[in-house]
Amino acid sequence: MLALQGDVREHLRLLRECGAEALPVRLPEELEGLDGLVIPGGESTTMDRLMRAFGLLPALELALGRGLACLTTCAGTILAAREIRDGLPDQLHLGLLDIAVRRNAFGRQLQSGEVDLEIPELGPEPVPVALIRAPSIDEVGPEVEVLARYQGLPAAVRQGRHLGLTFHPEITGDPRLHRLFLSRL
Ligand code: GLN
Repeated sequence: MLALQGDVREHLRLLRECGAEALPVRLPEELEGLDGLVIPGGESTTMDRLMRAFGLLPALELALGRGLACLTTCAGTILAAREIRDGLPDQLHLGLLDIAVRRNAFGRQLQSGEVDLEIPELGPEPVPVALIRAPSIDEVGPEVEVLARYQGLPAAVRQGRHLGLTFHPEITGDPRLHRLFLSRL
């Protein structure tokens, strides 16, 4: 669990509830030996700055090259994208997910709101999630599976073992997306 900002405690609790051995990561050496990494929401430009300030990028790139899988939410998904629209000119985009995202795409009315999302892969019961100044996913590449949509646009996507969400499942506390991520590690 990348623990620079965001809902660290909530994610750790869900991961542990699903049976994972979950630890907060702040330092480059803490990335060693992990199977998966949760990159939470928050503010993508701030997280970019913090990741550079903590010297995490080289170790993260090494770990990704060794097969580290990521579950990203909201700002984390912005960092994971191939392309960021309405971002800063040199904003970090790791390219883990072949998607183009647009920051703050849903405007002020959705600065905070809970919705029930249908995610067929997780069963018939909709998943309650929170959207907070959420990005949209405007384009997906051929290797990207769309698991859920919000207002017609992809809101949960998967590429290989990476799972990218534009919303926050940890706020509403439904563990099914964390379980899905862990089941493929
Ligand atoms: N709007 C934020 C950004 O651009 C993301 C918001 C969030 O993570 N809840 O980074």
